[in-house]
Order: sequence, then C-alpha cells, then structure tokens
Amino acid sequence: KRKRGEEELSSLIKRVEELDLKTAVKNFADLPLSEPTANGLSASHFKVLTDIQSRAIPHALKGRDILGAAKTGSGKTLAFLIPVLENLYRKQWTEYDGLGALILSPTRELAIQIFEVLRKVGRYHAFSAGLVIGGKSLREEQDRLGRMNILVCTPGRMLQHLDQTAMFETHNLQLLVMDEADRILDMGFQKTIDAILDHLPKERQTMLFSATQTKKVSDLARLSLTEPEYVAVHESA
Ligand code: ADP
Ligand code: MG
Repeated sequence: KRKRGEEELSSLIKRVEELDLKTAVKNFADLPLSEPTANGLSASHFKVLTDIQSRAIPHALKGRDILGAAKTGSGKTLAFLIPVLENLYRKQWTEYDGLGALILSPTRELAIQIFEVLRKVGRYHAFSAGLVIGGKSLREEQDRLGRMNILVCTPGRMLQHLDQTAMFETHNLQLLVMDEADRILDMGFQKTIDAILDHLPKERQTMLFSATQTKKVSDLARLSLTEPEYVAVHESA
C-alpha cells in the first residue's frame, strides 16, 4: 500500500514537471492534481477552469510566483487555493511540519469566504487549516496557531501574532498568498504587510492577486515576488 502511494506521488510530481505551459488547460481533470484535490473539486461541482485559473494554476503548480489581476467574480480563490493544496501535498506536508501556507485577505468577511472554499475543496486532504481574523481572544487563537498547516488571516491580526505569539513558527513556510492586494493597500495595510514579510522566510512561493492594477500593487509585487509570472485577464470589449 505504501509502495503504491510512493509511486503515485512520484508519478504526480513527474506529471507536474512535464506539464506543458503552452497549451491552455480546459478541465480540472486535465491538470496533474492529487486525488484529494480532484475529488474535492468534483464533489464541489467544479469542472471547467475560468480564464484566470487556466492561466495561473499551471505556473503556480510548478512553483512559480504569480502576479494575477482579474476582476471580481473571475475565480481567483481557486487560482491560489489549488496550488496551495497541491504544492503542500507533493511535499507530503504533515501536522509535524507546521505552517506551510499563509493566505492574507483584507477583511474578515473575505477571509471567511476563502476559508469556506478551502474547507469545501480541501475536504479530502489531511491538512489542518485555521482562520485568524480576531474576534476571539489572542490567547484562544494562540493555542491553535502552532498546529495549523494553512492559515487564512487578516493582516493586522497576523502581525499581532507574529509579534506576540512565541510558539508561532514561520520558518518552514512554503507559500504566501496576498488576495485582493489592491484593497489591502487601499485600506492602509502597507506597513503591516512590510512587517509581516520581515517575519517570513525569503525562500518561498508567493502569489499576489488583485482586481485592479495600481502603482501600489506593482510596488508591493516588486518587493515580495521573485520573477513572477504575470497573469492579467481583461474583459474583451
Ligand atoms: P474572485 O475572487 O475573482 O472575485 P471567486 O473565487 O470568489 O472570484 O469566484 C467567484 C464565483 O465563481 C464563486 O461563486 C465560485 O464558486 C465560482 N467559480 C470559481 N471558479 C469556478 C469554476 N472553475 N467553475 C465554476 N464556477 C467557479
Ligand atoms: Mg476573491
């Protein structure tokens, strides 16, 4: 059984390496995805990729940094959640490896929405996932934080923990997502994001998504991304 699992994993890794970036992928079934993710997607009735998903996910699966711009409603959540799940899965991330992915969202409401999609699509994975948006006592959140593999959080609350929660380790972090980066910056979180970045390992995969392309977003991209794949989906007239 174990042998078979190892063979499946190495075949998945090989399929990701061999994934051709020049041909557009239409269906999730055509992507090199783990069984838990593939099953989570079909159980949630997701079948065909949206434009931003089809352009961002293949690069992100290969570990590239992503700078993604597409309007609200275009499916950006799965564009980063699928690579988060897959890249941790292929690294055989377990509870003992600690925090593997951090997803930053501007507001509590949006963080909750992302978390709900993660719970749905990621339901067959064994990862632990938490929502860190304040509202509970810092102490209560602190106790759970150390055991989480994936966290969805608001910037202010995340920085509070990074500064104050001694047990909270980020040295193993593999992926950082900044969703709605334009809104994060419009809400005045620039310094908070800078301080969070200071706490994180430099060697990591970063995905930055926004609905609009602003000067502030490209400044943040310059500071936080390494040779990103630039993915912008515009409405055709
Ligand atoms: P954005 O973050 O770009 O505003 P969301 O990720 O919130 O967009 O997705 C918008 C809506 O589209 C959601 O209701 C989501 O369930 C749906 N959706 C996302 N991807 C797909 C897909 N591949 N197929 C069908 N519906 C999708
Ligand atoms: Mg969104």
